[in-house]
Amino acid sequence: MSLSHAWLDDVRPTPYADQLALGFRLLRFSRPLEQEYRNYVRDDTFELKRIALVVGILVWLAFAAFDFVLIKAPEVWWMLAIRLAVLVLLCLFGGLLIQRKHTYLLQPLSLVCLLALGASASFVVGIAHRVDPSYPYEGLLVCMAAYFLAGLRLIEALCCSLLVLLVYVCVELLVADLPVPRLINNTLFLLFGNLMGAVGCYLLEFKSREHFLISRLMRVLADHDSLTGLHNRRSFNRQFERLWRQAQREHRSLALLLCDVDHFKAYNDHYGHQAGDNVLQRIGSLLQDAARRPLDMAVRLGGEEFAVLLYDIGEAEARHHGEALRQTLQTLNIEHAGSDTASMLTMSIGISCIQPAAGGALAQLYEHADRALYEAKAFGRNQVVA
Ligand code: GH3
Ligand code: MG
Ligand code: MG
Repeated sequence: MSLSHAWLDDVRPTPYADQLALGFRLLRFSRPLEQEYRNYVRDDTFELKRIALVVGILVWLAFAAFDFVLIKAPEVWWMLAIRLAVLVLLCLFGGLLIQRKHTYLLQPLSLVCLLALGASASFVVGIAHRVDPSYPYEGLLVCMAAYFLAGLRLIEALCCSLLVLLVYVCVELLVADLPVPRLINNTLFLLFGNLMGAVGCYLLEFKSREHFLISRLMRVLADHDSLTGLHNRRSFNRQFERLWRQAQREHRSLALLLCDVDHFKAYNDHYGHQAGDNVLQRIGSLLQDAARRPLDMAVRLGGEEFAVLLYDIGEAEARHHGEALRQTLQTLNIEHAGSDTASMLTMSIGISCIQPAAGGALAQLYEHADRALYEAKAFGRNQVVA
Protein backbone atom coordinates (compact mmCIF):
# COMPACT_ATOMS: atom_id res chain seq x y z
CA MET A 1 0.00 0.00 0.00
CA SER A 2 1.36 3.41 -0.84
CA LEU A 3 0.19 6.90 -0.06
CA SER A 4 0.44 9.70 -2.57
CA HIS A 5 -0.37 12.96 -0.84
CA ALA A 6 1.53 15.55 -2.89
CA TRP A 7 -0.51 18.29 -1.18
CA LEU A 8 1.30 17.52 2.09
CA ASP A 9 4.23 19.58 0.79
CA ASP A 10 2.09 22.71 1.18
CA VAL A 11 0.98 21.91 4.74
CA ARG A 12 2.74 23.11 7.89
CA PRO A 13 4.39 20.25 9.80
CA THR A 14 2.09 18.58 12.33
CA PRO A 15 2.39 15.06 13.79
CA TYR A 16 -0.47 13.97 11.48
CA ALA A 17 1.11 15.39 8.31
CA ASP A 18 4.52 14.00 9.30
CA GLN A 19 3.09 10.52 9.85
CA LEU A 20 1.24 10.65 6.51
CA ALA A 21 4.47 11.60 4.77
CA LEU A 22 6.42 8.90 6.64
CA GLY A 23 3.87 6.16 5.88
CA PHE A 24 2.70 3.31 8.10
CA ARG A 25 2.92 0.09 6.12
CA LEU A 26 3.51 -1.92 9.27
CA LEU A 27 0.27 -0.47 10.72
CA ARG A 28 2.03 1.45 13.44
CA PHE A 29 2.34 5.17 14.16
CA SER A 30 4.91 6.98 16.26
CA ARG A 31 4.30 6.58 19.99
CA PRO A 32 1.91 9.37 21.13
CA LEU A 33 -0.04 9.19 17.86
CA GLU A 34 -0.44 5.42 18.19
CA GLN A 35 -2.08 5.88 21.59
CA GLU A 36 -4.37 8.57 20.17
CA TYR A 37 -5.32 6.27 17.29
CA ARG A 38 -6.16 3.41 19.67
CA ASN A 39 -8.38 5.67 21.74
CA TYR A 40 -10.07 6.80 18.54
CA VAL A 41 -10.61 3.18 17.43
CA ARG A 42 -12.02 2.31 20.85
CA ASP A 43 -14.65 5.05 20.57
CA ASP A 44 -15.22 4.62 16.85
CA THR A 45 -15.89 0.86 17.01
CA PHE A 46 -18.21 1.03 20.01
CA GLU A 47 -21.38 0.64 17.91
CA LEU A 48 -19.70 -2.04 15.79
CA LYS A 49 -18.98 -4.07 18.93
CA ARG A 50 -22.64 -3.86 19.95
CA ILE A 51 -23.78 -5.11 16.55
CA ALA A 52 -21.11 -7.84 16.57
CA LEU A 53 -22.25 -8.99 20.00
CA VAL A 54 -25.92 -9.25 18.99
CA VAL A 55 -25.01 -11.11 15.78
CA GLY A 56 -22.64 -13.37 17.76
CA ILE A 57 -25.30 -14.27 20.34
CA LEU A 58 -27.92 -15.01 17.65
CA VAL A 59 -25.55 -17.23 15.63
CA TRP A 60 -24.42 -18.98 18.83
CA LEU A 61 -28.06 -19.72 19.77
CA ALA A 62 -28.76 -20.97 16.23
CA PHE A 63 -25.84 -23.40 16.50
CA ALA A 64 -27.10 -24.56 19.89
CA ALA A 65 -30.44 -25.36 18.21
CA PHE A 66 -28.60 -27.27 15.44
CA ASP A 67 -26.75 -29.27 18.10
CA PHE A 68 -30.02 -30.21 19.71
CA VAL A 69 -31.48 -31.36 16.38
CA LEU A 70 -28.39 -33.01 14.85
CA ILE A 71 -26.80 -34.83 17.79
CA LYS A 72 -28.98 -37.65 19.10
CA ALA A 73 -26.66 -38.79 21.88
CA PRO A 74 -26.12 -37.91 25.56
CA GLU A 75 -22.98 -35.92 24.52
CA VAL A 76 -25.33 -33.16 23.32
CA TRP A 77 -25.78 -32.02 26.95
CA TRP A 78 -22.03 -31.42 27.25
CA MET A 79 -22.16 -29.40 24.05
CA LEU A 80 -25.11 -27.34 25.28
CA ALA A 81 -23.44 -26.77 28.66
CA ILE A 82 -20.34 -25.35 26.92
CA ARG A 83 -22.53 -23.11 24.74
CA LEU A 84 -24.42 -21.90 27.82
CA ALA A 85 -21.19 -20.96 29.64
CA VAL A 86 -20.04 -18.85 26.66
CA LEU A 87 -23.51 -17.29 26.38
CA VAL A 88 -23.24 -16.11 30.00
CA LEU A 89 -19.84 -14.53 29.22
CA LEU A 90 -21.28 -12.78 26.14
CA CYS A 91 -24.22 -11.44 28.17
CA LEU A 92 -21.84 -10.05 30.84
CA PHE A 93 -19.89 -8.32 28.09
CA GLY A 94 -23.17 -7.02 26.66
CA GLY A 95 -24.05 -5.57 30.08
CA LEU A 96 -20.80 -3.56 30.08
CA LEU A 97 -21.47 -2.36 26.54
CA ILE A 98 -25.00 -1.21 27.34
CA GLN A 99 -23.90 0.69 30.46
CA ARG A 100 -20.87 2.17 28.62
CA LYS A 101 -18.88 1.34 31.76
CA HIS A 102 -15.15 0.56 31.94
CA THR A 103 -14.67 1.35 28.26
CA TYR A 104 -10.91 0.71 28.62
CA LEU A 105 -11.84 -2.99 29.09
CA LEU A 106 -13.77 -3.23 25.82
CA GLN A 107 -10.82 -4.14 23.61
CA PRO A 108 -9.32 -6.85 25.87
CA LEU A 109 -12.79 -8.23 26.64
CA SER A 110 -13.64 -8.43 22.93
CA LEU A 111 -10.53 -10.56 22.52
CA VAL A 112 -11.47 -12.75 25.49
CA CYS A 113 -14.99 -13.28 24.10
CA LEU A 114 -13.70 -14.19 20.64
CA LEU A 115 -11.16 -16.59 22.10
CA ALA A 116 -13.86 -18.14 24.30
CA LEU A 117 -16.17 -18.47 21.30
CA GLY A 118 -13.45 -20.01 19.11
CA ALA A 119 -12.08 -22.39 21.72
CA SER A 120 -15.49 -23.59 22.90
CA ALA A 121 -16.69 -24.02 19.30
CA SER A 122 -13.64 -26.28 18.85
CA PHE A 123 -14.55 -28.32 21.93
CA VAL A 124 -18.18 -28.55 20.86
CA VAL A 125 -17.17 -29.80 17.42
CA GLY A 126 -14.64 -32.18 18.97
CA ILE A 127 -17.36 -33.76 21.09
CA ALA A 128 -19.79 -33.82 18.13
CA HIS A 129 -17.25 -35.51 15.82
CA ARG A 130 -17.05 -38.48 18.23
CA VAL A 131 -20.75 -39.05 17.57
CA ASP A 132 -21.16 -37.74 14.00
CA PRO A 133 -17.96 -37.09 11.93
CA SER A 134 -19.98 -35.06 9.39
CA TYR A 135 -20.90 -32.37 11.97
CA PRO A 136 -20.01 -28.89 10.57
CA TYR A 137 -17.42 -26.63 12.21
CA GLU A 138 -18.17 -22.89 12.69
CA GLY A 139 -14.60 -21.84 13.54
CA LEU A 140 -14.25 -19.88 10.30
CA LEU A 141 -17.17 -17.68 11.34
CA VAL A 142 -15.36 -16.80 14.58
CA CYS A 143 -12.24 -15.88 12.59
CA MET A 144 -14.24 -13.68 10.22
CA ALA A 145 -15.87 -11.94 13.21
CA ALA A 146 -12.37 -11.30 14.60
CA TYR A 147 -11.14 -9.81 11.31
CA PHE A 148 -14.15 -7.76 10.30
CA LEU A 149 -16.81 -7.43 12.98
CA ALA A 150 -15.26 -6.90 16.39
CA GLY A 151 -13.26 -3.73 15.61
CA LEU A 152 -9.92 -5.38 16.38
CA ARG A 153 -6.61 -4.32 14.92
CA LEU A 154 -5.01 -6.79 12.48
CA ILE A 155 -2.44 -8.01 14.97
CA GLU A 156 -5.12 -8.74 17.59
CA ALA A 157 -7.45 -10.45 15.09
CA LEU A 158 -4.58 -12.51 13.65
CA CYS A 159 -3.33 -13.73 17.05
CA CYS A 160 -6.88 -14.55 18.13
CA SER A 161 -7.72 -16.48 14.93
CA LEU A 162 -4.48 -18.45 14.83
CA LEU A 163 -4.89 -19.40 18.49
CA VAL A 164 -8.42 -20.62 17.76
CA LEU A 165 -7.07 -22.63 14.82
CA LEU A 166 -4.43 -24.20 17.08
CA VAL A 167 -7.05 -25.14 19.69
CA TYR A 168 -9.19 -26.65 16.92
CA VAL A 169 -6.36 -28.85 15.61
CA CYS A 170 -5.46 -30.01 19.15
CA VAL A 171 -9.08 -30.83 20.00
CA GLU A 172 -9.64 -32.75 16.74
CA LEU A 173 -6.48 -34.77 17.40
CA LEU A 174 -6.97 -35.40 21.11
CA VAL A 175 -10.76 -35.43 21.65
CA ALA A 176 -12.36 -36.35 18.33
CA ASP A 177 -9.61 -38.49 16.83
CA LEU A 178 -10.58 -37.21 13.35
CA PRO A 179 -8.94 -39.08 10.42
CA VAL A 180 -5.74 -37.22 9.45
CA PRO A 181 -6.69 -36.53 5.78
CA ARG A 182 -9.91 -34.84 6.91
CA LEU A 183 -8.07 -32.88 9.56
CA ILE A 184 -5.53 -31.68 6.95
CA ASN A 185 -8.40 -30.75 4.64
CA ASN A 186 -10.20 -28.78 7.38
CA THR A 187 -7.01 -27.08 8.56
CA LEU A 188 -6.06 -25.97 5.05
CA PHE A 189 -9.57 -24.62 4.53
CA LEU A 190 -9.28 -22.63 7.77
CA LEU A 191 -5.76 -21.41 6.92
CA PHE A 192 -6.85 -20.03 3.55
CA GLY A 193 -9.92 -18.47 5.16
CA ASN A 194 -7.58 -16.80 7.66
CA LEU A 195 -5.32 -15.58 4.88
CA MET A 196 -8.23 -13.86 3.15
CA GLY A 197 -9.47 -12.41 6.42
CA ALA A 198 -6.01 -11.10 7.30
CA VAL A 199 -5.54 -9.42 3.89
CA GLY A 200 -8.98 -7.80 4.13
CA CYS A 201 -8.33 -6.71 7.71
CA TYR A 202 -4.94 -5.21 6.72
CA LEU A 203 -6.56 -3.13 3.97
CA LEU A 204 -9.33 -1.97 6.30
CA GLU A 205 -6.93 -1.00 9.09
CA PHE A 206 -4.66 0.81 6.63
CA LYS A 207 -7.61 2.84 5.36
CA SER A 208 -8.86 3.45 8.91
CA ARG A 209 -5.42 4.79 9.91
CA GLU A 210 -5.24 6.96 6.81
CA HIS A 211 -8.71 8.33 7.51
CA PHE A 212 -7.73 9.04 11.13
CA LEU A 213 -4.63 11.02 10.10
CA ILE A 214 -6.37 12.98 7.34
CA SER A 215 -9.43 13.87 9.43
CA ARG A 216 -7.23 15.03 12.38
CA LEU A 217 -5.03 16.99 10.00
CA MET A 218 -8.10 18.66 8.45
CA ARG A 219 -9.24 19.65 11.91
CA VAL A 220 -5.85 21.20 12.69
CA LEU A 221 -5.87 23.05 9.35
CA ALA A 222 -9.40 24.33 9.91
CA ASP A 223 -8.45 25.72 13.34
CA HIS A 224 -5.06 27.23 12.52
CA ASP A 225 -3.73 30.04 10.43
CA SER A 226 -1.64 28.70 7.55
CA LEU A 227 1.00 31.46 7.64
CA THR A 228 1.87 31.51 11.36
CA GLY A 229 0.46 28.20 12.61
CA LEU A 230 -1.36 30.05 15.40
CA HIS A 231 -5.04 29.46 16.18
CA ASN A 232 -7.37 31.35 13.85
CA ARG A 233 -10.33 33.53 14.80
CA ARG A 234 -12.83 30.67 14.47
CA SER A 235 -10.89 28.47 16.86
CA PHE A 236 -10.35 31.47 19.17
CA ASN A 237 -14.09 32.20 19.42
CA ARG A 238 -14.84 28.60 20.33
CA GLN A 239 -12.01 28.29 22.85
CA PHE A 240 -12.77 31.72 24.29
CA GLU A 241 -16.32 30.69 25.25
CA ARG A 242 -15.12 27.39 26.66
CA LEU A 243 -12.45 29.07 28.80
CA TRP A 244 -14.92 31.72 29.89
CA ARG A 245 -17.24 29.06 31.31
CA GLN A 246 -14.35 27.21 32.90
CA ALA A 247 -13.10 30.44 34.54
CA GLN A 248 -16.65 31.03 35.84
CA ARG A 249 -16.78 27.58 37.39
CA GLU A 250 -13.29 27.74 38.89
CA HIS A 251 -13.41 31.43 39.90
CA ARG A 252 -10.29 32.26 37.89
CA SER A 253 -9.52 35.36 35.89
CA LEU A 254 -8.84 35.63 32.16
CA ALA A 255 -6.55 38.11 30.44
CA LEU A 256 -6.74 39.09 26.79
CA LEU A 257 -3.78 40.78 25.08
CA LEU A 258 -4.68 42.34 21.71
CA CYS A 259 -1.53 43.02 19.69
CA ASP A 260 -1.31 45.07 16.51
CA VAL A 261 1.90 45.63 14.54
CA ASP A 262 2.67 49.33 14.11
CA HIS A 263 2.80 50.84 10.62
CA PHE A 264 2.67 47.44 8.99
CA LYS A 265 1.21 48.79 5.76
CA ALA A 266 4.28 50.98 5.44
CA TYR A 267 6.49 47.93 6.14
CA ASN A 268 4.85 46.06 3.27
CA ASP A 269 5.14 49.05 0.99
CA HIS A 270 8.83 49.47 1.80
CA TYR A 271 10.10 45.87 2.03
CA GLY A 272 7.53 43.94 -0.01
CA HIS A 273 4.74 41.56 0.88
CA GLN A 274 7.01 38.50 1.20
CA ALA A 275 9.20 40.25 3.80
CA GLY A 276 5.95 41.23 5.55
CA ASP A 277 4.89 37.59 5.65
CA ASN A 278 8.24 36.54 7.11
CA VAL A 279 7.88 39.12 9.84
CA LEU A 280 4.36 37.92 10.65
CA GLN A 281 5.75 34.40 11.04
CA ARG A 282 8.44 35.61 13.46
CA ILE A 283 5.84 37.49 15.48
CA GLY A 284 3.69 34.35 15.44
CA SER A 285 6.37 32.24 17.08
CA LEU A 286 7.00 35.03 19.58
CA LEU A 287 3.35 34.96 20.62
CA GLN A 288 3.31 31.18 20.66
CA ASP A 289 6.14 31.25 23.20
CA ALA A 290 4.08 33.63 25.34
CA ALA A 291 1.18 31.14 25.49
CA ARG A 292 2.96 28.03 26.72
CA ARG A 293 0.60 26.85 29.52
CA PRO A 294 -2.03 24.27 28.49
CA LEU A 295 -5.04 26.63 28.66
CA ASP A 296 -3.34 29.67 27.12
CA MET A 297 -3.72 30.35 23.44
CA ALA A 298 -2.06 32.56 20.81
CA VAL A 299 -4.23 33.64 17.89
CA ARG A 300 -3.86 35.42 14.60
CA LEU A 301 -7.12 37.35 14.44
CA GLY A 302 -6.38 38.48 10.89
CA GLY A 303 -3.86 40.61 8.97
CA GLU A 304 -1.27 41.94 11.44
CA GLU A 305 -3.59 41.63 14.45
CA PHE A 306 -2.92 39.00 17.06
CA ALA A 307 -4.29 38.01 20.45
CA VAL A 308 -2.96 36.09 23.44
CA LEU A 309 -5.52 34.64 25.81
CA LEU A 310 -4.11 33.81 29.24
CA TYR A 311 -5.94 31.72 31.81
CA ASP A 312 -5.79 32.28 35.57
CA ILE A 313 -3.64 35.39 35.61
CA GLY A 314 -3.82 38.71 37.50
CA GLU A 315 -3.77 42.13 35.88
CA ALA A 316 -0.23 43.00 37.01
CA GLU A 317 1.13 39.73 35.64
CA ALA A 318 -0.77 40.15 32.37
CA ARG A 319 0.69 43.64 31.97
CA HIS A 320 4.14 42.19 32.69
CA HIS A 321 3.57 39.57 29.93
CA GLY A 322 2.46 42.27 27.49
CA GLU A 323 5.47 44.45 28.27
CA ALA A 324 7.81 41.47 27.84
CA LEU A 325 6.24 40.74 24.44
CA ARG A 326 6.57 44.32 23.28
CA GLN A 327 10.22 44.42 24.39
CA THR A 328 11.09 41.08 22.79
CA LEU A 329 9.85 42.30 19.41
CA GLN A 330 11.80 45.51 19.85
CA THR A 331 15.02 43.63 20.73
CA LEU A 332 14.64 41.51 17.57
CA ASN A 333 15.54 44.85 15.96
CA ILE A 334 13.75 44.22 12.65
CA GLU A 335 14.57 47.28 10.58
CA HIS A 336 11.53 49.40 9.66
CA ALA A 337 12.56 52.49 7.70
CA GLY A 338 8.93 53.46 7.01
CA SER A 339 7.88 53.73 10.68
CA ASP A 340 7.23 57.11 12.33
CA THR A 341 7.48 55.48 15.76
CA ALA A 342 10.91 53.82 15.85
CA SER A 343 13.70 52.62 13.58
CA MET A 344 12.66 49.01 14.14
CA LEU A 345 9.38 47.09 13.90
CA THR A 346 7.20 47.56 17.00
CA MET A 347 3.75 46.65 18.18
CA SER A 348 1.04 48.11 20.40
CA ILE A 349 -0.76 46.00 22.96
CA GLY A 350 -4.11 46.50 24.67
CA ILE A 351 -4.81 44.37 27.74
CA SER A 352 -7.98 43.54 29.59
CA CYS A 353 -8.30 41.25 32.59
CA ILE A 354 -11.62 40.00 33.98
CA GLN A 355 -12.82 37.46 36.49
CA PRO A 356 -15.96 36.06 34.82
CA ALA A 357 -17.44 35.06 38.19
CA ALA A 358 -17.63 38.74 39.15
CA GLY A 359 -20.42 39.17 36.59
CA GLY A 360 -18.48 40.44 33.56
CA ALA A 361 -19.73 39.55 30.11
CA LEU A 362 -17.65 37.69 27.57
CA ALA A 363 -17.86 40.53 25.05
CA GLN A 364 -16.64 42.98 27.70
CA LEU A 365 -13.20 41.38 27.89
CA TYR A 366 -12.77 41.87 24.16
CA GLU A 367 -14.18 45.41 24.13
CA HIS A 368 -11.93 46.55 26.98
CA ALA A 369 -8.82 45.11 25.34
CA ASP A 370 -9.80 46.71 22.03
CA ARG A 371 -10.26 50.10 23.69
CA ALA A 372 -6.88 49.73 25.46
CA LEU A 373 -5.26 48.92 22.11
CA TYR A 374 -6.88 51.97 20.55
CA GLU A 375 -5.42 54.09 23.34
CA ALA A 376 -1.97 52.53 22.91
CA LYS A 377 -2.11 53.53 19.23
CA ALA A 378 -3.40 57.01 20.05
CA PHE A 379 -0.71 57.63 22.72
CA GLY A 380 2.03 57.06 20.15
CA ARG A 381 2.21 53.26 19.52
CA ASN A 382 4.95 50.81 20.71
CA GLN A 383 3.38 50.61 24.15
CA VAL A 384 1.19 48.52 26.42
CA VAL A 385 -2.08 49.85 27.83
CA ALA A 386 -4.14 47.88 30.33
P1 GH3 B 1 -1.23 50.93 12.55
O1 GH3 B 1 0.07 51.28 13.17
O2 GH3 B 1 -2.26 52.00 12.78
O3 GH3 B 1 -1.72 49.61 12.99
O4 GH3 B 1 -0.97 50.91 10.99
P2 GH3 B 1 -0.94 49.66 10.06
O5 GH3 B 1 -0.35 50.06 8.76
O6 GH3 B 1 -0.25 48.54 10.74
O7 GH3 B 1 -2.44 49.26 9.95
P3 GH3 B 1 -3.38 49.07 8.71
O8 GH3 B 1 -4.61 48.38 9.23
O9 GH3 B 1 -3.57 50.35 7.97
O10 GH3 B 1 -2.62 48.08 7.73
C1 GH3 B 1 -2.49 46.74 7.97
C2 GH3 B 1 -1.66 46.17 6.85
O11 GH3 B 1 -1.37 44.80 7.08
C3 GH3 B 1 -2.37 46.22 5.52
C4 GH3 B 1 -1.96 44.96 4.82
O12 GH3 B 1 -1.16 45.23 3.68
C5 GH3 B 1 -1.09 44.24 5.82
N1 GH3 B 1 -1.41 42.81 5.86
C6 GH3 B 1 -2.55 42.25 6.26
N2 GH3 B 1 -2.47 40.92 6.15
C7 GH3 B 1 -1.23 40.63 5.67
C8 GH3 B 1 -0.54 39.43 5.34
O13 GH3 B 1 -1.04 38.31 5.47
N3 GH3 B 1 0.73 39.54 4.87
C9 GH3 B 1 1.32 40.74 4.71
N4 GH3 B 1 2.57 40.77 4.25
N5 GH3 B 1 0.69 41.89 5.00
C10 GH3 B 1 -0.56 41.84 5.48
MG1 MG C 1 -1.17 47.73 12.50
MG1 MG D 1 -4.50 46.57 12.29
